[in-house]
Amino acid sequence: MAATETSRGGTRQPMPEQDPQVRRRNFDEVPLGFTPEAAQAEAERCLQCKKANCVEGCPVGVDIPGFVGRIKTGDFDGAIGKIWEMNSLPAVCGRVCPQEIQCEGRCILARKGGAPVAIGSLERFAADRARKLGTLEQPPPAASTGKRVAVVGSGPAGLTVAGDLIGKGHAVTVFEAFHKPGGVLVYGIPEFRLPKEIVFSEVGLLEKQGVKVECNAVVGRTVSVDELFEDGYDAVFIAVGAGLPTFLGIPGDNLVGVLSANEYLTRTNLMKGYQFPAYDTPTPRGKNVVVLGAGNVAMDAARTAMRLGAERVQVVYRRSREEMPARGEEIHHAEEEGIELNLLTNPTAFLGDDSGRLNGMRCIRMELGESDASGRRRPVPVEGSEFELVCDLAVVAVGSGANPLLTQSTPGLGLNKWGYIVTEEATGKTTKPGVWAGGDIVTGAATVILAMGAGRQAANSIHNYLTLGW
Ligand SMILES: Cc1cc2nc3c(=O)[nH]c(=O)nc-3n(C[C@H](O)[C@H](O)[C@H](O)COP(=O)(O)OP(=O)(O)OC[C@H]3O[C@@H](n4cnc5c(N)ncnc54)[C@H](O)[C@@H]3O)c2cc1C
Repeated sequence: MAATETSRGGTRQPMPEQDPQVRRRNFDEVPLGFTPEAAQAEAERCLQCKKANCVEGCPVGVDIPGFVGRIKTGDFDGAIGKIWEMNSLPAVCGRVCPQEIQCEGRCILARKGGAPVAIGSLERFAADRARKLGTLEQPPPAASTGKRVAVVGSGPAGLTVAGDLIGKGHAVTVFEAFHKPGGVLVYGIPEFRLPKEIVFSEVGLLEKQGVKVECNAVVGRTVSVDELFEDGYDAVFIAVGAGLPTFLGIPGDNLVGVLSANEYLTRTNLMKGYQFPAYDTPTPRGKNVVVLGAGNVAMDAARTAMRLGAERVQVVYRRSREEMPARGEEIHHAEEEGIELNLLTNPTAFLGDDSGRLNGMRCIRMELGESDASGRRRPVPVEGSEFELVCDLAVVAVGSGANPLLTQSTPGLGLNKWGYIVTEEATGKTTKPGVWAGGDIVTGAATVILAMGAGRQAANSIHNYLTLGW
């Protein structure tokens, strides 16, 4: 990407990336990361504002001027230490946080019409360097409080609570349904955006601090929340995410070749289907792939399909580009890789052959009408505009819901009408004594950093409960 000129703060350092023509067929990471020289040059641009708006834009309150200032002077170990004070997953956040609407969106340089400091890329630089050199220093172990906490789910919310509470002297066990920890960071977000080795390394650091991780443990089936209390846990934090797939409810939903983004990405990422047959689980490979939806999940599915050898990949979305919920960077990368955007188009039926295999999709063109409750203009069908698309694989990425397995097997847990757990906003306390919840299972599908922010609040509240009794 070209360097960005700005009137104040000099030129934003470009992030080197794999060539789109090469990367569209491999699963290696797309952005290559800053060199130390580029990182220092970028850090020079920071104005070190006394009232740092960027920190207010960070849901976990990282001292951004503090760590950027250390990079500027070449104190890279000091920089990662500063980040670690507030964020236990910096290499993850440096890659996948929507910085453009959080820290970087508040940067004074951006407010004055220039390019903001590349805070995410600098965070990634500091974390990657420390991981590669093994220079991450473990915080000294805290004196044991003798209290035990069970964390259910090992996504960003669960891992944040685990890191915060182990640091305060409580014994923490994380229960994870899958055979690997990390939540969506491992089963959803593809390798080319977030290499799994990075997530495992950050989980490994928590384990070194004493966090126990028990995989293949489905709470609500192998053990219930009430049984965790009977086993001697003093508090339980629920962070099971919102991984229940949603389908379109149109004719042909059950054809072979129509699958949820959740299944498609889990097969490809967690089960390493892209390396089949070296790994056991195959992943469906289409020549003509359509992806329904326009969020980050849809972009990940489309870019995955291209890497799995598709000749044509179309993202089909009923609104216009302006309403696409995916990050601008993801849309830009997808288009560079040859993904087509088929906008203002709504599928009305999947079409199949005699053996029940998908071979096409019936669609209708849409136009934007009045604004709806979300403030976005409502898509309205254009009469007589029906047409058919040829496709042999359709990946449905139109949102996900709350998985009822744990919530419905836990008496006393208040739920809202969509099945998400009701909590006290400032603390994450649920209606069940001794139980907290946070992340996507409370808010619905959101972001990594919001899940971490909810984990931070809940960890503080659990600590007060365990030490002060409130
Ligand atoms: C494909 C995809 C791409 C995304 N891209 C981005 C992005 O670029 N940037 C961003 O900020 N956000 C992104 N998100 C959203 C973000 O990943 C989520 O908001 C975040 O991971 C939520 O964290 P969580 O801890 O609440 O839950 P999750 O990350 O969903 O973790 C929940 C964990 O709980 C486990 N679990 C579920 N039920 C049980 C049970 N009964 N017992 C034990 N364990 C259980 C699950 O297996 C899972 O590991 C993306 C999401 C998806 C699906």
